[in-house]
Amino acid sequence: MKVLSFISNIFCPPKCIFCEKLIGVNCQNNYCEKCLSELIIKSERICQMCGRPIEVPRGELICFTCANERYNFSRNIALFLYKGKVKDAIINMKFSANNQWIAYTFGELLADHISKQYSDVGFDGIVYVPSSKKRQKKRGYNQAEIIALAVGKILGLPVLKDALIKYKETPKQSTLSSAERRKNINGSYKAGETDVTDKVLLLIDDVLTTGSTMSECAKMLTKAGALLVYSATIAVTEGWDTKCRLRGKRLKITRRNSTYYTK
Ligand SMILES: [Zn+2]
Ligand SMILES: [Zn+2]
Repeated sequence: MKVLSFISNIFCPPKCIFCEKLIGVNCQNNYCEKCLSELIIKSERICQMCGRPIEVPRGELICFTCANERYNFSRNIALFLYKGKVKDAIINMKFSANNQWIAYTFGELLADHISKQYSDVGFDGIVYVPSSKKRQKKRGYNQAEIIALAVGKILGLPVLKDALIKYKETPKQSTLSSAERRKNINGSYKAGETDVTDKVLLLIDDVLTTGSTMSECAKMLTKAGALLVYSATIAVTEGWDTKCRLRGKRLKITRRNSTYYTK
C-alpha cells in the first residue's frame, strides 16, 4: 500500500489542501505542518456547546453565540474557523468530484481531533448529515459522508449509512439569514432504516454555522431512540466573541434572565 501511494505521489504529487503548494513525494500528508499549525483553533478556552474559541473572558465555558441557544446534540467540536484558506479548501472540496481527496484529508485530521477531544466517550457508530437525493445526484458525492468514512476507518467505528435521510429539498442554507435557516431546516430530515436504539452517536458535517442543521439531525436521531448524539465538524463560522473583538464593540447578551456585557 505504501509503495502504491509512493508511486501515485510521483505521478500526481500531493498538494497542501490549504496553500496548494506541492509537498515532497515522501510526505504522507496532504497539507504542510506550517499551514495546519497556523490555522487550527488553538484557544485553551473552547465553547462546550459549539466548539468556537471563547475570546471574551467570562465565568463559563459557553460562547456568546450559544448564550441563547439550545441544541439537541450534546456538544460540537471543530478543527478550524471557517475563513481564509480553510474556507477556500472547503469550497474546493465541494466544487468537483476530483477533489474528494480534500474531504478524506479533512477526515483524517478530524479523526485525530475526535480521539483527543472525545477520549472519554464510547461511540457505537458514526452518522453524517445527508444530502437530498437530487443534490447528491448532481454533485455525485456527499463530502460529509467521505469525511465520516475516513473518520470511521481510522477510529474503527461503523458508519451508519441509512441512519438519516434528507427528504425535503430546501433552499441552500448559505443564502438564508439565521432565523430563516431554522425555519428552512425544520422537518427536512428524518431517521432512516438503521436501528439507532440506545446508541451513542457521532454526527459529522463539514461546517457548523447556526447549528440548526446538526440540531435537527440530532433531534431526529434521538426521536428514533439514540441515547446521545455528539457532533464534530471540520470548521465553525466566526461567532459573536470574535466579531466583538475584531470590531472593538461591547455587546449586550441576555441569558436566562441575566444580562452580560462583552468587554
Ligand atoms: Zn500549506
Ligand atoms: Zn458556542
